[in-house]
Amino acid sequence: MQSGHPGTTPPLPTPAVPFPEWAPEAIAQNPDAPLALYLHTPYCSHRCIFCPFYVNPTQPGFSASYADLLSREIDGTAGILAPHFGKREISAVFFGGGTPSDLDRDDLSRILRQLCIQFPITPETEITVEGRIRGFTADKAREWVAAGANRFSIGVQTTDTKLRRRMGRLAARDEIRDTLAALCASGAVVIIDLIYGFPEQTPEMLAEDIRFVAEETQIHGLDLYELREFPGSPISTAIAAGRLPQAAAPDIRAQMLTAATGALQHYGFDQFHPRHWRRDTRERSLYNRLARGGSPVDLVPFGAGAGGRIGGRGIALHRDILDYTASVLRGIKPVA
Ligand code: SF4
Repeated sequence: MQSGHPGTTPPLPTPAVPFPEWAPEAIAQNPDAPLALYLHTPYCSHRCIFCPFYVNPTQPGFSASYADLLSREIDGTAGILAPHFGKREISAVFFGGGTPSDLDRDDLSRILRQLCIQFPITPETEITVEGRIRGFTADKAREWVAAGANRFSIGVQTTDTKLRRRMGRLAARDEIRDTLAALCASGAVVIIDLIYGFPEQTPEMLAEDIRFVAEETQIHGLDLYELREFPGSPISTAIAAGRLPQAAAPDIRAQMLTAATGALQHYGFDQFHPRHWRRDTRERSLYNRLARGGSPVDLVPFGAGAGGRIGGRGIALHRDILDYTASVLRGIKPVA
């Protein structure tokens, strides 16, 4: 999952003065640039072996205490920046991670409501909560939609139960079907991520993933990503030690992409952006297109490990949860 703002143009360095001294002027610099908020939750209840983003295991009580910190940071940041927005409204809000859907129902809904009070959020604002199947209950989905969320992005990666479990994903295929049905019933736009290139994955398995989600779920879109093997990640270590076969070779990956493209077209999905497909125009993938596009955007980060940019200047927040906590409790924007 993500930590904020890959972008395509290198950001300018963060000024070496405190946030309140540079950020108000920076955010007012380009009054035509879209505005977006990124909120990072660096916790997961379980680690997926292909993941380079995993940081902290969930602990009892983590949700309420992390939401309290986010809440303080939102209040402080809104006080510094919002008076300088002019007439701009928020185009997109993205809760990424980690696993934001591991937060407790009432903790995330109070953060959603607070954002709607503190920032110029409108009915047009795309508000996404990222999550995964296990633990994303119908109750959470309903409550978060009531609090303002209108899009759920779920890291499914593969629907093959055996392959999922080898990759560290716990939910079986029936659970995927039931959870996606509950999320779609909430009224939100629901999209999923699929990955191709896993060890032992075949083009036929990927085509079957697409048949399954197209025929047996009501999802509105999906993003298709190629597996990246980061050095030192559990999957790379397991392959090097012979505990897993090699990841799919480039020619097999090309066959997978061809199979997936054919299946998506067969089921009426439209490729509206290189990695994004949809079968309902309510799916806009606005945050991803803003964050990864080349046009100016002000992307304000919140939460431990979040990244963003303001007035073209990069900004990264403390990744270590203790450093992040100490800054927030002192009333300081936790810039690393
Ligand atoms: S849920 Fe997402 S962030 Fe967490 S370990 Fe799995 S892939 Fe990584």
